Amino acid sequence: MEITDIRTVTVDYPAPDHDIEPDRPAWTEDGPVANPMTRYPRYAAFRPSWRPPWGSIGVVVEAADGTIGLGMTSHGPVVAPIIDEHLGPRLVGEDCMATEKVYDMAVRLCAPFTAAGLAAYAVSGIDLAMWDLKGKLLDRPVYELAGGPARSELTCYATGNDTDWQLELGFDAMKLACPYGPADGRSGLEANAELVEDRRQLIGDDRDLMLDCWMAFDVDYAVRLAERCRAYDLRWIEECLAPEDIAGYRALRNRLPWQTITTGEHWYRPARFQTAAADRIVDILQPDINWVGGLTAVRRVADIAAAAGISVILHAGGNNPYGQHASLALPDVPLTEYFVATPPGVPLEYSHRLPGTAVPEDGTITPPSSPGFGIDLESIELTPIDG
Ligand SMILES: [Mg+2]
Repeated sequence: MEITDIRTVTVDYPAPDHDIEPDRPAWTEDGPVANPMTRYPRYAAFRPSWRPPWGSIGVVVEAADGTIGLGMTSHGPVVAPIIDEHLGPRLVGEDCMATEKVYDMAVRLCAPFTAAGLAAYAVSGIDLAMWDLKGKLLDRPVYELAGGPARSELTCYATGNDTDWQLELGFDAMKLACPYGPADGRSGLEANAELVEDRRQLIGDDRDLMLDCWMAFDVDYAVRLAERCRAYDLRWIEECLAPEDIAGYRALRNRLPWQTITTGEHWYRPARFQTAAADRIVDILQPDINWVGGLTAVRRVADIAAAAGISVILHAGGNNPYGQHASLALPDVPLTEYFVATPPGVPLEYSHRLPGTAVPEDGTITPPSSPGFGIDLESIELTPIDG
C-alpha cells in the first residue's frame, strides 16, 4: 500500500485531571542545572531562561486506505518545513511497509545540509510515524515488529533531583542533574560533590546513583569532579562534554579509566556511535529515539553496541511510547530512563503524557500490546501546521 500523505501536525491532549496538592514544588522550578551557558551570568541561574522556545510536533504518515501513523519530534517550528516542504513531498508514493527504504531516502535527501542536528529531528518524526503505521496495518505492537519482546517489562531508573520522592515511587536507581559547572569554581565543585554525597547517604549502598552533566564541563573539570565523587560510587557520569568534542571524550576515557562514561542524547545518525563504540570512548550509548533518526536509527545503534559488546540506554526512553517499545524490543537495552516530571506527592499517572503511554509502577513499566506504538489517537487532537 502506498503512502498518500506526510504532514506535520500540532498534537493536543489534556493533562490528566486531579486536585492533589504537591508536597513541595518540583526541583525543576528553581534549581540551577549545569549547562553550556553557565559561564554567562545572565543565563546561569536558570536553564529554561535560554533554551529554544520551540515545542514538540507530530508527524502523520497516511496510507492509501486512510490509516495513519503518528511520530513525534522536538524543535517543531524549525523542523516542520524540512518535512512539509522537502522530505514529505519526495517520500509520498513509497510503500507503507518500507521503513528501511524510507529512512534511507530521508537521510540521503538531507545530504545537502546533513541528516544531523535539526534535520535528524525531521527524519525521526517521519521514521516513527512509519513504524506506527506499519504496526497498525499489521495489527501488531511495534516492539514485536522490531524483534521483541526481549523482556517482559522495563526496569527504570529515575532522573531528577527529588530523590526522596523517587524512593517513595519505588525506583531502585536514580540520576542527578549536576547543578554547577566550571564557571562556579571550587565552591561549585564542592556543592556538586555534597549533593552526590547527600543522595548517596539517602539511598544507601544498594541502589545505583548516576550524575548527568548536560554538556556543561571541559575535560579538566570532569576529571576533578569524578575524582572528588569517587567515594560515592557513581554508576556512571553522563554527557560531560560538548557532543562534537570526540577528542575530549577520548582524553576523558584515558584520564578516568575506572569511571563508567556515557553520552549520546545529542549525537545524531549511527556513524558517530560507531566511532565511539569502536574506540571504546564511552561505555554506554544513549541515543534519543525522537532525535537520532527514529527507531530505524536506534536499531542500527543497538547493532553497533552489540558488535562492540557495550549497551544502549535510550535517553528518556521510558517517557514516551517510542522509547518504551524500542527498550522492550532490543536485547542490548538493559535499563530505561524515566524523567520524573510530577512534583513530590503527585503520582506519575497524573503526568501530562501522550495518551496511551504507560507509567512506571514500583520502578517498572509494562507497555500495552495495542497495535503500532499504542498511542490513543481518539484522545488526541491533530491539527495540520501548514494548513
Ligand atoms: Mg542526559
